[in-house]
Amino acid sequence: AQQRYAGLRDKPAVSRDGRRICLQMNAGLMADLPSLEGSGAEGVGLFRTELQFLIRNKMPKRDELAKLYAHVMDAAQDRYVSFRTLDIGSDKVLPYMKPQDEPNPAMGWRAIRVGLDKPGVLRMQAQALIRAANGRPLSIMFPFIAEHAEFVSARAHVLAQIEREAALGRPTPKSIEIGAMLETPSLAFAPQAFFEMADFISIGGNDLKQFFFAADRENERVRRRYDTLNASFLGFIGQIVARCAATSTRLSFCGEDAGRPVEAICLAAMGLDILSMRPASIGPVKSLILRTDLAALRDVIDAECAKGAESVRPAVMDFLAKQPS
Ligand code: PEP
Ligand code: MG
Repeated sequence: AQQRYAGLRDKPAVSRDGRRICLQMNAGLMADLPSLEGSGAEGVGLFRTELQFLIRNKMPKRDELAKLYAHVMDAAQDRYVSFRTLDIGSDKVLPYMKPQDEPNPAMGWRAIRVGLDKPGVLRMQAQALIRAANGRPLSIMFPFIAEHAEFVSARAHVLAQIEREAALGRPTPKSIEIGAMLETPSLAFAPQAFFEMADFISIGGNDLKQFFFAADRENERVRRRYDTLNASFLGFIGQIVARCAATSTRLSFCGEDAGRPVEAICLAAMGLDILSMRPASIGPVKSLILRTDLAALRDVIDAECAKGAESVRPAVMDFLAKQPS
């Protein structure tokens, strides 16, 4: 399949009606990096830093991490990379951390909640990233931000580390952008000040969908119960797009749905301009974008929503089947 899409590798993803969609890849291990070249990804929209913590049997040291992060930035050359700070808890348990006995780990002490309550690791990671950037631009995002105040605190930790490095006479990043993952519905309703403060927002659709429908993403009995192309969910995505547009906040989507062509094309139709996905999905998603009139698809989605359809999928599939190839 990779072969089939090889010819598209260097072609920009421009829809039939002229919308340019930026396709990035998700990564987390050093083994993922060669895919940057092969897939034609325009950068790494989500670097899951916890994978480096999960493959070890003890807490990695700052300098070791700085080397790894520098290696990632070297491999990306001048392409964009956004590093997500440690997202542990819930389904990701570190073997060297005391296990938490929580009745609902997905809604428990996880991700930025751990980072803010025990900021030692967050600070250490920030230092490692700042040192790795060493005069290059740096992009950091925090997982599972549920309210504005959490973003303010997490951001302050990173900015304090930059000041500290500068005070020590060490090089600081050429530029820094700090973003939040939108993975809980609450953040979509945050005050305007949040959208103004965030340099960018990335929708973590896996978690966002889990919490939107209250359906455990790990539970086989319910995880496929609700369609991503459910009219209410797409409408909610549309509201997030509108809030970000009002403050000119860059918005991307990095959950698994960004890598499923039909879901991805609907996200683009809802106004997403940046999609980050597993590298193998870039070819198939790009191929569909090239063939699709996104404005016409949006009309189909809006008409279905207006009719009160539960899922827009049947109408979307019908529309896509009738597209000229
Ligand atoms: C998500 O929730 O969509 C996401 C990208 O993060 P993860 O899958 O690592 O929770
Ligand atoms: Mg998530």
